[in-house]
Amino acid sequence: MKSLKTFFAAAVLGLFALTSTAMAQDKGLIGISMPTKSSARWIADGDNMVKVFTEKGYATDLQYADDDIPNQLAQIENMVTKGVKVLVIAAIDGTTLSAVLQQAHDAGIKVIAYDRLIRDSANVDYYATFDNFQVGVLQAGTIETALGLKDGKGPFNIELFGGSPDDNNAFFFYDGAMSVFQPYIDSGKLVVQSGQTGMDKVGTLRWDGAVAQSRMDNLLSAYYTDKRVDAVLSPYDGLSIGILSSLKGVGYGSGDMKMPYVSGQDAEVPSVKSMIAGEQYSTVFKDTRELAKVTANMVDAMASGKEPEVNDTKTYNNGIKVVPAYLLKPVAVDVTNWEEILIGSGYYTKDQITQ
Ligand code: BGC
Repeated sequence: MKSLKTFFAAAVLGLFALTSTAMAQDKGLIGISMPTKSSARWIADGDNMVKVFTEKGYATDLQYADDDIPNQLAQIENMVTKGVKVLVIAAIDGTTLSAVLQQAHDAGIKVIAYDRLIRDSANVDYYATFDNFQVGVLQAGTIETALGLKDGKGPFNIELFGGSPDDNNAFFFYDGAMSVFQPYIDSGKLVVQSGQTGMDKVGTLRWDGAVAQSRMDNLLSAYYTDKRVDAVLSPYDGLSIGILSSLKGVGYGSGDMKMPYVSGQDAEVPSVKSMIAGEQYSTVFKDTRELAKVTANMVDAMASGKEPEVNDTKTYNNGIKVVPAYLLKPVAVDVTNWEEILIGSGYYTKDQITQ
């Protein structure tokens, strides 16, 4: 009898499992193409999207491309072949996807540019991202405050780092930061001893921390043997960590050599730890849980023939059209508010940071 009961229970459970899988797929398959697993933020983005899409009843195909453009192209082609309903893409190089997006369009597949704008294609329906110009304003703002520039202090030496020149965001971050710094550079309160300004000189291909570290090594040995650098604009935590190790390598952060103020982005765990240790000065938190929600809501709206909610229809011209966008707000984080922002919001547990 007992075994019969168990059998029935198992059968009912099995039936539930079957129906919920079927239900999960009822609303269709979503292809999620992420650039790389080398940065924790993209892993969080992927995980969060799978979670929200599954909750909403979609099936997902999540792929990471190892920062390799042909790999990302092949993965997206494969998703098109599988007949996904929507493609959600964070591009490695925002200019390389035109052909596959044409195929997607011809097959009736909608496309959402996720976090990074996809350029040079008419076949991008929506863009879900953060206010990227504001990210740069916040990065520079933390340095402006730390140096006391608003109070007329200075002159200070600063060096500038940009993100990957094939990522549209990198230009927005840089322009946002320069909107804060340029007046101080013009008045002589900020001095870029290397003279290296502009994305063509300060960009860091593929956001590679090792590349930033070796550029910082070169800057220090060429321009700072008899001067101190007071601040470094870094657009991403992975670069900040490389820059900081270069600075530490020549003695900054010990003895009477104060660590320069180094910014960052993404509030990645090693950088939060570094801030607590008094090394990295600031970062910018972008809640990937919210971005996943915005994206899933866009998909839901499109699926039911409605217009997805957007809050920007002017800023993101991809070279062919202005892509309607939803911009979330980034938040500046430093040692004074990391706990409130990152732990208080449940993004991290305290153990993740303190262990
Ligand atoms: C993202 C940033 C990230 C960077 C490097 C950018 O496109 O917006 O959050 O730091 O890529 O992964």
